[in-house]
Amino acid sequence: MTKSEVPKAPKAFVIGWPIEQSKSPLIHGHWLKQHGLAGSYEKIAVEPQDLEKFVGSLRDQTFVGGNVTIPHKQAVLAHVDVIHDTAKRLGAANTLWFEGDKLHADNTDGYGFLANLDQRAPGWDAKQGAHALVIGAGGAARPIIDGLINRNFKKVTLVNRTRARAEELQQLFAALGFADRVMVEDWDNLDPALVGKDLLVNTSSLGMVGQPALEIDLDALPTSALVTDIIYNPLETDLLAVASIRGNRVVDGLGMLLHQAVPGFEHWFGTRPAVTDGLRTRILEA
Ligand code: NAP
Repeated sequence: MTKSEVPKAPKAFVIGWPIEQSKSPLIHGHWLKQHGLAGSYEKIAVEPQDLEKFVGSLRDQTFVGGNVTIPHKQAVLAHVDVIHDTAKRLGAANTLWFEGDKLHADNTDGYGFLANLDQRAPGWDAKQGAHALVIGAGGAARPIIDGLINRNFKKVTLVNRTRARAEELQQLFAALGFADRVMVEDWDNLDPALVGKDLLVNTSSLGMVGQPALEIDLDALPTSALVTDIIYNPLETDLLAVASIRGNRVVDGLGMLLHQAVPGFEHWFGTRPAVTDGLRTRILEA
């Protein structure tokens, strides 16, 4: 598609398997309406074996781009023309868009994580030589660690039930030149590992509705630390509730989901949308 062929009502998508639970159509639908834009954003269930065929047919289907979620974030990179730096570093993309005939891919999850903290806890990254503790080493941890390194966190300590998975991430960041910035601590040492930390992030699925609780004793965490959970169901996880009571600043995970959607919307529909309280309420009501 060339610039002169940009459609009057651009069509975008989110693909995943399963995809039913995706909140992305609500987010983009809200912004399309708010800005009075003609356009659409639909969720499409794509099985792993159909990914190549689906991506190959995007031009024929006149899509301007879309989002990619689990389980396609890594695999999609094999089918695009241009992989932007963040997606290249992380080996995963969540946002696709056409520039001319070329299909571009990037990863906006880390951007979403950082933008959420920037909006809800201004100045959170001001300290020089800060040290974060990240719980979990799954798909979501990767862009978050990348984001923290980019914001000049001196150290990021990873604690994951399966230590080998945390070590894999450590090696990935060592290969990117950050061997001295990412450390791994045993799951059994989670509580003592909180000593001296400036930021605590839960990226594991513990504490989410339907999942086991995150068992953690925050006594050793400085009350000056910021605590954030990327889970947004419930919006206030037990971790955030307990942290808040003891005086820590807390930020919930909904904003990460909302902010990661901003760059895609701008690519597809030509307007940079804002993450507002109105949008948060719309998603929470749904
Ligand atoms: P994932 O790749 O499946 O990783 C899950 C993580 O949770 C792993 O570190 C896993 O540890 C840990 N975990 C799961 N069950 C556990 C248990 N019983 N005990 C200890 N650790 C356990 O998932 P993900 O994509 O990283 O997503 C993680 C969570 O973040 C999900 O709840 C997801 O909904 C949420 N999320 C939110 C956003 C947002 O925008 N706010 C974005 C992405 C994800 P092991 O390695 O030991 O299995």
